Amino acid sequence: MRTVSDYFGCKVFDDRVMKATLSGKVYSSLKKTIDEGTELDISVANAVAIAMKDWAVKNGATHYTHWFQPLTGITAEKHDSFITPSPDGGVIMEFSGKELIKGEPDASSFPSGGLRATFEARGYTAWDPTSYAFIKGKTLCIPTAFCSYSGHALDKKTPLLRSMEALNKQALRILRLFGNDTAKCVRSSVGPEQEYFLITKEMYDQRPDLRFTGRTLFGAKPPKGQEMDDHYFGVIKPRVAAFMEELNEELWKLGILAKTEHNEVAPAQHELAPIYTTTNIATDHNQLTMEIMQKVASKHGLVCLLHEKPFAGVNGSGKHNNWSIATDQGQNLLSPGETPYENAQFLLFLCAVIKGVDDYQDLLRISVATAGNDHRLGANEAPPAVVSIFLGDELNAVLEAIETDTPYKGTEKTQMKLGVDVLPKFNRDTTDRNRTSPFAFTGNKFEFRMLGSSNSIACANIMLNTAVAESLKIYADRLEGAKDFETTLHEMIRKTIKDHKRIIFNGNGYDDSWIKEATEKRGLLNLRTTPDAVPHILDKKNVDMLTSHGVFSEAEIKSRYEITLDNYCKTVIIEANTMVDMARTQIAPAVEKYTADAARSAAAKKAIDPSIVCGFETGLVKRLSILTDRIAAGADALDEAVVQLGNADDIAAESAMIRDTILAKMSELRVACDEAETLTAKSYWPFPTYADLLFGVK
Ligand code: ADP
Ligand code: MG
Repeated sequence: MRTVSDYFGCKVFDDRVMKATLSGKVYSSLKKTIDEGTELDISVANAVAIAMKDWAVKNGATHYTHWFQPLTGITAEKHDSFITPSPDGGVIMEFSGKELIKGEPDASSFPSGGLRATFEARGYTAWDPTSYAFIKGKTLCIPTAFCSYSGHALDKKTPLLRSMEALNKQALRILRLFGNDTAKCVRSSVGPEQEYFLITKEMYDQRPDLRFTGRTLFGAKPPKGQEMDDHYFGVIKPRVAAFMEELNEELWKLGILAKTEHNEVAPAQHELAPIYTTTNIATDHNQLTMEIMQKVASKHGLVCLLHEKPFAGVNGSGKHNNWSIATDQGQNLLSPGETPYENAQFLLFLCAVIKGVDDYQDLLRISVATAGNDHRLGANEAPPAVVSIFLGDELNAVLEAIETDTPYKGTEKTQMKLGVDVLPKFNRDTTDRNRTSPFAFTGNKFEFRMLGSSNSIACANIMLNTAVAESLKIYADRLEGAKDFETTLHEMIRKTIKDHKRIIFNGNGYDDSWIKEATEKRGLLNLRTTPDAVPHILDKKNVDMLTSHGVFSEAEIKSRYEITLDNYCKTVIIEANTMVDMARTQIAPAVEKYTADAARSAAAKKAIDPSIVCGFETGLVKRLSILTDRIAAGADALDEAVVQLGNADDIAAESAMIRDTILAKMSELRVACDEAETLTAKSYWPFPTYADLLFGVK
């Protein structure tokens, strides 16, 4: 029998294949580029291209593509075949180093947020050798970064790689100060837990809202939702199990370390978690995972919904971004150490995260801001829009002891003197039980839980890496000039705790009293919606910080601001238009038909015997007639409100109008339609209901 280890990574041009197919000289030169980011010589690129093509062709590929991640949030590819005519009328398969290194897709239709208008119309893709090439279908996919000719990033990968470099640079400075002269680089790693829903394709096809927007825009609450808690970790249904089996196999072939799978809280909701890996690879893998989930689902007659809130009233889907930083020697810098010195280093990195998250709460919030995620944050299944950090009682007590120079109660020691005492061993279990925190320390990593299920993880990690790099830079600047390293270190850690402890919250993040405390007492930001959050990316402190690390240029920040808000507006407008259409052409006519039939039935009964009361029909006709009028009026009002958006001066104004008027009108229309659904006979209802959708997969 074929075992997983036989086929794991069989579609990836990974280290094993490189070793086997490249000459020693070419291999070591490529390896140096991958590990240390050195420039790749064109002769090496040519040799790699030939080996890659031969391997790909042998494995069934006919085409190649530069695979990239434009600002649409999904991946893009344009296939070119390897064929070149040969003089004898046949073809040979060719691929050059030049084609490997650089591509020129027609960039004009990708969002650029004004960058292309101001600068250069064309863009190019550049090979990212740190992420392995792979075969998808019959195409060799080469992971690339996407830039304009003037060097502006038009994608999510370029700034991600820059942010990793910024973190690497500053973290190495700190490590050197702690006497580590051997680490060559520091990388952040991520394990993203991915939630999703599975529904049947047959029902999906009957719902324009799902097809056009990825979520249901109507739907009365079903008699049973998630209240019984009987789905979480429950037995996986055969059809879902078959889907998961094939999904795992496809992911494993692509070298993706799919590890954990289970049912989630909501009916029809599931989760997949991979083993963590380097951030840019984890990002590529997560994009691929989402794509393959959808492909495999469709082979099973299912649809995989990645929307953050496909159903009102039941949990939405998020993505937990487990994040840590480690040296190339495998030392996890967020893991409490064994020696006093290691502990001091751990506390400094911990403080860098605390400071970074507090100083740049807004950037973290912005990094997860989408129309879909706005429905989820602050609802009952996800952290609020307020960013805070959970550390757990033990670690919190340690920090308090350091701040106040008082004895730490967890040990017999009288004081927590940095660089002298050993930290207590944290029991991993005690650190991982708070599920309500947006940013939780879980023993040796942080889990950022605000991401929406469809978000690329690139944005969150760009902000996280850079914010922490900024703290480390400030620390390194101070420590490098310090006369007394230990005292300066101690004081810096104390000061960080004192200045930033407002961001630490170990209580229940879902509690309303927390929002009050966070905003009123602690002065934390509560950026509830995307239009509230995104403009803050232009704040001077954010622009200064991001540009100083070379992660974004000012023009790139501006472009991302435009694109994020534009995307928000377009998303909601499509939803509004879909609602108007469904209300007018499906729901109102269905309700009307049922009403007319009830009226006819009453009239027929009265014709037989005028003394028949017909209370049911009369009541129904009255209630449904009122509702039909409300539905018609609601659709008109929403339609008109969308037209009014044309008057907005700019994208900020438009997004604010959407937040303040369109969403409210959508909700009014929905309430009327959902009420009508509860009164209308099922056989009249024009599409599958929540109960059908949520419990339809057997
Ligand atoms: P849970 O959150 O359910 O307790 P785990 O702690 O086992 O589960 O892991 C959740 C995710 O965190 C997995 O994807 C795992 O690979 C990832 N993870 C574990 N260690 C690290 C690390 N050092 N850096 C980044 N991610 C990590
Ligand atoms: Mg988790």
